[in-house]
Amino acid sequence: MSIPTENVGSLPRPAALQTAIADYDAGKITKAQLEREQDKACRDSIERMEATGAPIVSDGEQRASSFATYPLADTLAGTGLAANLAADGQYFAIFTDGHHRQLPRLTGGPFRYKTYAADYLKKSIGMARKPMKQAVIAPSMLSLLYPLDGELKGYSREQFLADLCDECERDIRKAFEVGAKRVSVDFTEGRLACRNDPRNPWTGRKMLEHFIELNNRVLDRFTAAERVNIGIHTCPGGDCDSTHSADVDYADLLPSMFQMNAGYFLIQLASERDRERVYQLIGKHSRADANGVPQVCFIGVINPLDPEVETPEQVRDELVLAAKHIPVERLGSTDDCGFSPFSIDVKPKHGSPDVARDIAFQKIASRVEGTAMAAQQLGLMAEAR
Ligand SMILES: [Zn+2]
Repeated sequence: MSIPTENVGSLPRPAALQTAIADYDAGKITKAQLEREQDKACRDSIERMEATGAPIVSDGEQRASSFATYPLADTLAGTGLAANLAADGQYFAIFTDGHHRQLPRLTGGPFRYKTYAADYLKKSIGMARKPMKQAVIAPSMLSLLYPLDGELKGYSREQFLADLCDECERDIRKAFEVGAKRVSVDFTEGRLACRNDPRNPWTGRKMLEHFIELNNRVLDRFTAAERVNIGIHTCPGGDCDSTHSADVDYADLLPSMFQMNAGYFLIQLASERDRERVYQLIGKHSRADANGVPQVCFIGVINPLDPEVETPEQVRDELVLAAKHIPVERLGSTDDCGFSPFSIDVKPKHGSPDVARDIAFQKIASRVEGTAMAAQQLGLMAEAR
């Protein structure tokens, strides 16, 4: 037995790709030209992630507009927006550096994805020699496409949520069909739901329990054997090297979060101040039996917002400490978040997206090496055959 380790999903898009996206939005290049840049970035992402020794890799989401909007639009600027959507929806989040990210607004039914994560994975999976994972967006995030108050004429909230759950289920199933070994569901809005920000009305509506119920509506459509490989990612946001809800106490989130019947959780932790307290909370609230699956807790040992590379020794020590509070057979390691959940991100603290990519691979290599060292120290490698 070893300690499993897995990334969240995204990597910074190379500067050349970010320029190509802007040129595509401006009508200066064709979709085929954009796709050539995306292919190049995916291949580079996979090859370099494999070279870190990581047992499972992703394509760094190089084709996705963002972790949340990939089903809805081709680019973050809104080029190729899906039917029944307008650009001016709710703020998904306002970040500590003052910038914000906005969702589209649903104008009518039916709600359908324009792009499934598998549509992108299909183009990348042949480039990989190692197993691939795929991240998808949670129904709870996309539920914010529907206006916060009132009902759309001819398309009730209940009808929308039913369509949304069908689409999220399809998104996960298609990813497995195309060959993903693991699928993790991005749930960054969970922690933000515990933060009442008057500038962002939905955060004040106590929506966490509703989010958990909605996500379980989708998770419960999968068998226990399938849910072993379906995860949930939680974080306080990670965009332009900034967060949106790092001040929310994990004690407000974790008891509810572990009510979701997922088989594993990718949990931001490296950037927490009092990590041991959070390990204790995880040990207390995660479940050995979540409707037939044990909840494996992958703790964040790498901070993608900080250019300083963690050492393998630091990674090892965190895991050894976490193992005091989390049963070791349900312990794993991860990064705190994707390295660039949104396609357009200059990674200001890193200097440039290309530098941030180099640093990301060094960080992943540290995670992989430190995790193996922790397994050794915890006496888990003895059984290896
Ligand atoms: Zn995240």
